[in-house]
Amino acid sequence: MPVPLMNTRAQYEPLIDQVRERVLSIIDGGRFILGEHVTAFEQEAAAYLGVRHCIGVGNGTDALSIALRALGIGPGDEVICPAYTFYATPESISAVGARPVFADVDETCTLDPESVRSVISGATKAIMPVHLFGLAADMDALQEIADEHGLAIVEDAAQAFGSTWQGRRCGSLGDAATFSFFPTKNLGGFGDGGLVATDRDDVAELARMLRFHGSKDKQVFHHIGYNSRLDEIQAGVLRLLLPELDGWNAARRGIADHYRQAGLGELVELPPTPAGREHTYHLHVVRSDDRDGLVEQLREQGIGATVYYGNPHHLQPVYADLGYTPGDLPVTEQLAAEGVALPIYPTMTTAEADEVVAAVRAARPAIAGA
Ligand SMILES: *Cc1c(COP(=O)(O)O)cnc(C)c1O
Repeated sequence: MPVPLMNTRAQYEPLIDQVRERVLSIIDGGRFILGEHVTAFEQEAAAYLGVRHCIGVGNGTDALSIALRALGIGPGDEVICPAYTFYATPESISAVGARPVFADVDETCTLDPESVRSVISGATKAIMPVHLFGLAADMDALQEIADEHGLAIVEDAAQAFGSTWQGRRCGSLGDAATFSFFPTKNLGGFGDGGLVATDRDDVAELARMLRFHGSKDKQVFHHIGYNSRLDEIQAGVLRLLLPELDGWNAARRGIADHYRQAGLGELVELPPTPAGREHTYHLHVVRSDDRDGLVEQLREQGIGATVYYGNPHHLQPVYADLGYTPGDLPVTEQLAAEGVALPIYPTMTTAEADEVVAAVRAARPAIAGA
C-alpha cells in the first residue's frame, strides 16, 4: 500500500461543498480585493493567535519582507536567521536590502541561542527564528538576547500555525510574525496567501500600508511598498478552514505518537519533543546516517520520503559572497545531511503509519549517531 508524504485533498474533502459555495458567493459579490472576507479573516486569525493585529498579504515570503520593512529594517542592517530553513527566510532579508547572518541551530532544528549571541554585531537589528517543521524555537532565550541588545524579533511561523510555546501561540511571541497559506502548510489555502501578525500598532499600520503600495488611500504615497494582498477568495476559503485547524493538528500529533509507539525510534532518530512546546508536525523529519539510502528504499516501496532541507543556505551559491565555508554551522550541516521527512497528514490512518514503519524496518537504515 503506497503512502504519500502529504495529502491535502483528503484533508479538505469534507468541506468541499462549503468551499465551492463560498467561492461562488464571492464571484457573485464581485469584490475580489480587500473585501469583507479579508477583514473578517484578519480578525479571526488575530483572535486565534492572541495578537492585536493581523494583515493579510500575498504570500509568506512577502509577509517576511513586509514585516522586516515595517520594523524599519533595510540596507546596512543585519538580521540573524538559521541556514536550516526554507530559502524564503534569508531571501526576504536580502530582498529588503539587509544582510542575513546565519546562526547555527540545535537538535530541535531551531536557532541555538548561544550561536545567535556569538554572531551579534553593531549592525544587528533583528533575530528571525523559524519554528521549523512546526516546533517552536526557544523564544525565552531569544527574547532575553533581544532585550539585552535592543533587537527586534520576527518569527517566521510559516510552518507553525497552531503551534505553541509555553502555552502561547507561535506568531504571538515576537515584535512581528509571519505565516504562509501555501496549500501544503498546516493551514493551507487554495492558492498563495500570507499573513503578518503583531501586537504593535506602529508595525501593523506600516505593514498595512506596505501591502498596498505604501499608501492608505492610493492617492498619497508614503513608501515604496508592495502590491501584496491576501486574495479575497483565499480569505473566504481560509475562514472555513481555520476552525478545523486544531483538529487537523491534533491528528498530526496522533500520527507522530503512533510512529513512536510502533517503534520507529528504534530505526531512525525521531523529531525532538522538548517540554513546553506543542509540535504541529508540519513535517515529520527523522534522522538517519544513511539518509540517501533510506530515501531511495522508501520510494521503491511506494512511501513518500523527501529531504528538507538538504542544502543549507550559508553554502548556497547566492550567498557565496558572504564567505561561509563548510564546517561553519556544524549542527545545521549535520541535520541537512541526515534529515528526511516521512509521511504525515491529518487524514493518515494508523495502518498507513504502520506501513511506513514496516518500510523503514525493511530498509534497515543506519540510525543517526549510533
Ligand atoms: C513556506 C515558507 C515560507 C514562504 O511562504 P510562501 O507563502 O511560500 O511564500 C517562508 N518560510 C518558511 C519557513 C516556509 O516554510
